[in-house]
Amino acid sequence: MDMNRRQFFKVAGIGLGGSSLAALGMAPTPAFAEQVRHFKLTHTKETRNTCPYCSVGCGLIMYSMGDEGKNVAQNIIHIEGDADHPVNRGTLCPKGAGLLDFIHSPNRLKYPEVRKPGSNEWTRISWDDAMDRIARLVKDDRDANFIAENEKGETVNRLLTIGFLAASASSNETGYITHKVVRNLGLLGFDNQARV
Ligand code: SF4
Repeated sequence: MDMNRRQFFKVAGIGLGGSSLAALGMAPTPAFAEQVRHFKLTHTKETRNTCPYCSVGCGLIMYSMGDEGKNVAQNIIHIEGDADHPVNRGTLCPKGAGLLDFIHSPNRLKYPEVRKPGSNEWTRISWDDAMDRIARLVKDDRDANFIAENEKGETVNRLLTIGFLAASASSNETGYITHKVVRNLGLLGFDNQARV
């Protein structure tokens, strides 16, 4: 392109001015048609929880929709790892990442069931009935099978007919209380999901 000295400085001046304005953030922005981006989590409620699958116990954030009215059930629409959780720092393995399907599965067990001796059917019972039933059976079994002394006359205070498996996703406090309850009953068969 042929240009004289005057034309050269004119073109260079315009280019330099445009660059300086852009650097100062004063350049005109491109004009786009008006658009609003909808974030799917904007109006959700956040609830922290723990992945129920394995002994790692990764922290989760569950996002649910619903206005929290008494007759409105919250619907969980998204689950992701909790970045503030010390175990997983926001990460989830493929099982944890698929928890939304687990929660909404029609096969998910949501309430206690009992299969009584001799029956081949599971029957739904209330949580109160389940707790009463567990307490009754544990008490009856302990009364019948508690061993206070061994054959040498030494105090052993043990119960060998019941076992207990504790959950690894529990807090330290829950683990402490669980241990106290189990050992006070005299149970020796006691383990934790973290070892499974
Ligand atoms: S996200 Fe994966 S590793 Fe973490 S607790 Fe769940 S199943 Fe275990």
